[in-house]
Amino acid sequence: MKVIFLDIDGVLNCKETPNPRKFPYIVDERLLKRLLPLCERTGAQVVMSSTWRYDPVGLLAARHFQIPFIDVIPDMPGEARHKEIMAWLSSHDDVSRYAVIDDEDDELDALPLFQPSASTGLTEEIAGGVADYLDGKTDKDMRSNRFIRVAQNVHAILKGHIG
Ligand SMILES: [Mg+2]
Repeated sequence: MKVIFLDIDGVLNCKETPNPRKFPYIVDERLLKRLLPLCERTGAQVVMSSTWRYDPVGLLAARHFQIPFIDVIPDMPGEARHKEIMAWLSSHDDVSRYAVIDDEDDELDALPLFQPSASTGLTEEIAGGVADYLDGKTDKDMRSNRFIRVAQNVHAILKGHIG
């Protein structure tokens, strides 16, 4: 089985996601539409790594928005997300290949990390990179260089102020 460990905030929503009511849990349909074909093409199952998983309301919201997850990683308070993902993997020995999509890098350095910027969320380019990785076409992951990420965030903020 192929698995995508999926973060949500900064991946399926971004700074541009309309949220006039300021809901704490929001999914950008535009970004979700990039995830679904990725799952279909690769046959990967989604395991949620987002903090949404701790909160019953977050889990309901994920189902409401039809994020196709089959499981969540364990909640290990005080531990980095990396440890929680490794714990999930150690209890599932049928995983052939996996990728982590997360806008942050909570000690995820040792894992195949695909890292969108929170100002854009999941891009077509990153979704394509994950698909190629899961299909075994490449071993290259895609992490954002800190400098580029900061620059993108500044750009988004400036754009917000001007536009
Ligand atoms: Mg995030």
